[in-house]
Amino acid sequence: MWQFNLCTEYSPRPDAMRKLRIAVDLDGVLADTITSFCKILNKRYSTHFTVESFDRWNAWQNAGISQNEFLGTLDEAWLDWRSIQTMEENLSEKVGKLATFGQVDIVTGRSLHTVQYAKAWLKEQHIPFDTFIRTQSTNAKVKLSYDLFVDDSPDLMALIASTLDSHGILYTQPWNRMAPEMPRIVRVQRWNEIPPVLEEMVGKDRTRSSK
Ligand SMILES: [Mg+2]
Repeated sequence: MWQFNLCTEYSPRPDAMRKLRIAVDLDGVLADTITSFCKILNKRYSTHFTVESFDRWNAWQNAGISQNEFLGTLDEAWLDWRSIQTMEENLSEKVGKLATFGQVDIVTGRSLHTVQYAKAWLKEQHIPFDTFIRTQSTNAKVKLSYDLFVDDSPDLMALIASTLDSHGILYTQPWNRMAPEMPRIVRVQRWNEIPPVLEEMVGKDRTRSSK
């Protein structure tokens, strides 16, 4: 039985329900948490990890630490949320462009106690969104009814590809470069590649409904 712990402040725009429902991930898609993670880990162990060091989703194996320590260190990075950078310049504007396609929610598997920091970061960075939703895990996201997920998890993309009609945009990171091509999954390198993908999705829907 899947369980979701939803932290919602639900206020969709009046026209949102007729449009796409879009789930945007936080870590690794909006927030460059892994850079902060590397700084903490390198200080702790006098190591020289960089973002490029992490070439698999189970990144704790790259670092030679336990999964618990990995997740705990990511949480630690969020305690110092003001020092977390955006993945790209002008991210607020880039994310804002998604609003013309429908409802844009932040959907994250962040731990409960870091949600307050994540929300503060989103506000500070002026990232526009409709609802903030927390799931128990990254993979649990697939059970939510979104038309499209923007995420950096190759495992989530595999789950999306196995659904009937959900779509995924895989935001390229070192830990997902090895992910194979999958149905209804489009890989992008940068945020400005996302609106054209959505244009095509909406266009295909129109073509289908006019037949
Ligand atoms: Mg992520």
